[in-house]
Amino acid sequence: MYPSPNITGAGGWEAALQKAQAFVDELTLEEKANMVTGTPGPCVGNIAPIPRLNFSGLCLQDGPLAIRQAIYASVFPAGVSAAASWDRSINRQRGLLMAQEFRGKGAHIALGPVVGPLGRSPYGGRNWEGFSPDSYLSGALVEETVVGMQNAGVQACTKHYIMNEQEIQRNPTFINGSKVESLSSNVDDRTMHETYLWPFANAIRAGTASIMCSYQRINGSYGCQNSKALNGLLKDELGFQGYVMSDWMATHSGVPAIQAGLDMNMPGGIAFTGGAPSYFGGNITTGVNNGSLPIQRLDDMILRIMTPYYFLGQDSGYPQLDGSTYTSGGFFPKQNWVHEFPTGPTVDVRENHASLIRELGAAGTVLLKNTNTTLPLKQPKNIGVFGNDAADFTQGQYTLSLSSGLASGNYDIGTLAVGGGSGTGRFTYVVSPLEAIKARGQSYGALVQYMTSNFAISNGGLSSVTPAPPDVCIVFLKSWASEGDDRSSLIAEWNSTVVVESTTKICPNTVVILHGAAPNVLPWKDNANVTAILAAHMPGQETGNSIVDILWGDVNPSGRLPYTIANKEEDYSKLLVNSTELVRSTDPDAWQADFEEGQLIDYKEFDAKNKSVAYEFGFGLSYTSFELSGLEIQNEVANATRTPSPSAKILPGGNVEIWETLVTATATVKNTGQRAGAAVPQLYLSLPASEAGQGTPVRVLRGFDKVWLGAGESKTVEFPLMRRDLSFWDTAAQTWRLPTTAIGVDVGFSSRDLKLKGKIGV
Ligand code: BGC
Repeated sequence: MYPSPNITGAGGWEAALQKAQAFVDELTLEEKANMVTGTPGPCVGNIAPIPRLNFSGLCLQDGPLAIRQAIYASVFPAGVSAAASWDRSINRQRGLLMAQEFRGKGAHIALGPVVGPLGRSPYGGRNWEGFSPDSYLSGALVEETVVGMQNAGVQACTKHYIMNEQEIQRNPTFINGSKVESLSSNVDDRTMHETYLWPFANAIRAGTASIMCSYQRINGSYGCQNSKALNGLLKDELGFQGYVMSDWMATHSGVPAIQAGLDMNMPGGIAFTGGAPSYFGGNITTGVNNGSLPIQRLDDMILRIMTPYYFLGQDSGYPQLDGSTYTSGGFFPKQNWVHEFPTGPTVDVRENHASLIRELGAAGTVLLKNTNTTLPLKQPKNIGVFGNDAADFTQGQYTLSLSSGLASGNYDIGTLAVGGGSGTGRFTYVVSPLEAIKARGQSYGALVQYMTSNFAISNGGLSSVTPAPPDVCIVFLKSWASEGDDRSSLIAEWNSTVVVESTTKICPNTVVILHGAAPNVLPWKDNANVTAILAAHMPGQETGNSIVDILWGDVNPSGRLPYTIANKEEDYSKLLVNSTELVRSTDPDAWQADFEEGQLIDYKEFDAKNKSVAYEFGFGLSYTSFELSGLEIQNEVANATRTPSPSAKILPGGNVEIWETLVTATATVKNTGQRAGAAVPQLYLSLPASEAGQGTPVRVLRGFDKVWLGAGESKTVEFPLMRRDLSFWDTAAQTWRLPTTAIGVDVGFSSRDLKLKGKIGV
């Protein structure tokens, strides 16, 4: 797909584009080259200042849950927790407060949110940075996050585009001196549109300033020089007006990458070290001078970079760059800087963000099992707290290195509040589960007995518990995941099964709490002494307070699974390419991931195979109960054309008609229990496979709402269904197409607890 489409400013960026044009008009060719090439500096990514134009440069900082390198900043719940809340407004709020911290530190661009990986494989090492393997849920929440972040005046960078679904071989390797190219994720056009591109379209519609292209190859060509993906899908079909930046060293060429749609090269050089040569930089000036790179394309790159900058008002009154962020774990030591970056004093940007963090930590916790109404706890006098995840950190609060300390996951005793790699955060503190439970117990005089060494517990340590059994035993387990590696098992680590079994032997009332990556399989879930299970995900710095709020019922659990928990590990298709043979292969093209399952990932796979699961997508218990009734469908589909008009406007997000609401479904949800709580009614559609074709999922999520209800209260929920929600991607016509036969509608409390049935007659 050539040439690379030019920015038009469509969708409200017109005035900002004019300012950007005036800026570009002032630039020399060398300055233009610098505007698109990262350089060593105080941030994870840096664009050099141009003092004569009063341009102080651009500071790009990780990541999706915190301003990672900074000190005196908050660590928010990870994407998986945000998704498990199924709450649009709290996701927007999370985006806003996080971005306020980036802004406070003088960072212009936050390198998040994540919708790639989407979560094709449950083993994907970075799934937790994003939301959910369900495209619709991810799309809804990435949209809120981008809007929230940009409301704070910070540019969002939605990443990693696209099909960056595994960590292994994400980059090329060298075996005995021969280069083996990175993994190629190979996908068909329909799956691309209905599954992987879907949430990126939402991010673009929400106005994401930038998109980070991914390391691996897409259908054979590198993510950052794939003209179909960048020029075709992003800039043409979806009308993206912002800029595409490379992932760190994901650029593999100069002019070809630029012609394919890459606008900014990060961190600039071909190595992380300062002063490394670049595919961009001086090669840009050479390219323009020798005619291989049209100056119009270079100008468009800068217009795309500077338009969101002006649109968000970053040109005036933007806070100074906090100088402490590079000394505390940055990429570039100051002696490597080739440009001057003015930096200011250290600022504390945490404000009162801990309160939202605590709230979202609880909102992202899913109650899976609760027999004998174990929970909420009723002031137990004798409490046991067991497991290494209950404890405070023992190996520091942050480390950049992926191979040691907290960020490596290779730590035994200490709670797991977020995952590792560039998507982690530097904790100023953590409230550990044990600390919070002790405080709560003390408030009414309880005895808290605890053991945080899994080794000791597995070796008979619990025989020292006395009096025994405690009224309740709370076991904390953890599952690590990090950039750089995929998960090798879906069972919580550090001998977790033996830890649970040792506890249930002494304790008939055991509550198991899982922290960390998801999904996990739960080999002990049917043990009669395991009376409650909570998937608590990655709640961030207030983790202990968040879980205590749920355990004692100050907060009624309202999280729902944003993925499926299978009965056993083998029930999942692994969908990861990795083997000793491959790792040894010197065939440059050895690594191929064929996405043959198409759209059938997570619940769509289990539904297609009609396979039983432990806890299905969308599932979660509450301390109250809900009822659904009265499904009504107002249907405009019959009057609509089958496909959007090809002459309709293309705004960010694509053809405007795909975002028009054609059907509105409503239902009534009632709290039938004794306590206030939140229900999450979910709407699923079944498109006719006879028309949509092979591989059409049995049903897909196309609506949800989180509804807060007092005891006995009822409310009407509304599910607006847009053209895209009701259509399948027609590969021959290259457009979204509404079926001509009926679409099935189910409304329920999970993907398998479907209460109301209807039909959209077309
Ligand atoms: C990651 C990106 C991150 C970048 C800068 C890369 O390795 O894939 O997500 O933003 O590093 O730290």
